[in-house]
Amino acid sequence: MTAPGALNSATGTLYVVATPIGNLDDISARALKVLRSVALIAAEDTRHSIRLLQHFGIATPLAACHEHNERDEGGRFLARLQAGDDVALISDAGTPLISDPGYHLVRQVRAAGIVVVPVPGPCALIAALSAAGLPSDRFIFEGFLPAKAVGRRARLELVKEESRTLIFYEAPHRILECLEDLEAVFGGERMAVLARELTKTFETLKGLPLAELRAWVAADSNHQRGECVVLVAGWQAPEGDEALSGESLRVLDLLLKEMPLKRAAALAAEITGVRKNLLYQVALDRQKDV
Ligand code: SAM
Repeated sequence: MTAPGALNSATGTLYVVATPIGNLDDISARALKVLRSVALIAAEDTRHSIRLLQHFGIATPLAACHEHNERDEGGRFLARLQAGDDVALISDAGTPLISDPGYHLVRQVRAAGIVVVPVPGPCALIAALSAAGLPSDRFIFEGFLPAKAVGRRARLELVKEESRTLIFYEAPHRILECLEDLEAVFGGERMAVLARELTKTFETLKGLPLAELRAWVAADSNHQRGECVVLVAGWQAPEGDEALSGESLRVLDLLLKEMPLKRAAALAAEITGVRKNLLYQVALDRQKDV
């Protein structure tokens, strides 16, 4: 197979291939073509992927490439690529490298001057965002939050004034705790969407303010089952603060702790480029709120 822009035609190509996140019909014609034609498929879990390949009648050999062997075994795949074999990288579901193994391999392969070609397809965060009805022009993906409440809340504190839509992956057994912490840090009024079992029989997209969403999930253990993505609307500045981003406010708050209000507003204006008068007004409002 000839990759676009191949650096050296004597070497193979690494294809990063997205696979379904539930509905097998979501595999692309191109993904099937690549998986059939490469010499080797590097898979996160070979036992899992063999079922996918059998379903599509693909007999390409598989080799394990998971988070525990990716760094050490990368050389093996690199050697095959250098010998001229094409290799496909897949994960258990969705797009490799997105909260899945593959980053170290891709980095290593690119560093060796070998072409890496994406074969795009399903990805839970993009599927969720495309149907959630939250602003989708700018968003941040935070992957999985820390498993323990202290770490989770600390991470959420860092993004609580983020104005872009926030997207998190979460395991079903932690979804309730996660929503409790989201409510505690972001407030119960903030709009959120729980996208679970995407592309599967029990697909659900539930959009409610965080307090109501937490109550909805708590009320029925079925709502806590299956794979899920949590999306939270970005922070909206209170009236009067509308021109300030979370970062500008963070700078202002830090300076307000260290110096008088007028000086803090002036310095924050220099650092952020926001109008001094606006920062001054916001600083007055914030001090009133304390
Ligand atoms: N690489 C995958 C992708 O492209 O989305 C993500 C892999 S990550 C290990 C697994 C997490 O993705 C799950 O815990 C869940 O948060 C999310 N996820 C995967 N499949 C999903 C689905 N069908 N519905 C909702 N969330 C899903």
